[in-house]
Amino acid sequence: MKINYTTKNQRLNVEINSDSVKDAFKELAIFQEVFDEDSCQLCHNEELQFVVRTVDRNDFYELKCKKCFAKLAYGQHKSGGSLFPKRKNSEGNYDNNQGWHKWNGGNENV
Ligand SMILES: [Zn+2]
Repeated sequence: MKINYTTKNQRLNVEINSDSVKDAFKELAIFQEVFDEDSCQLCHNEELQFVVRTVDRNDFYELKCKKCFAKLAYGQHKSGGSLFPKRKNSEGNYDNNQGWHKWNGGNENV
């Protein structure tokens, strides 16, 4: 089974080859969770940039808004090399910003 999927903002396209519906579902879920962010949730700008920062030999994966410079940080699963967007705010709660935040000058929530 071959699936072509284009993100909501039409910027990325992925081809998924899978043996079963379950595999296709899983692959799509992983891709959507990481790559299908269509706009900054603070200013709704659609110009986003993928950024990887390396600090002390650790890589930090972020999506950055090119307009207001807010960012969405990604966490890394301990195994499998996959990523997930950090949707909770610094207090550990979900809010309307869906994880998008501006650096507040303090310790970044890495
Ligand atoms: Zn923004």
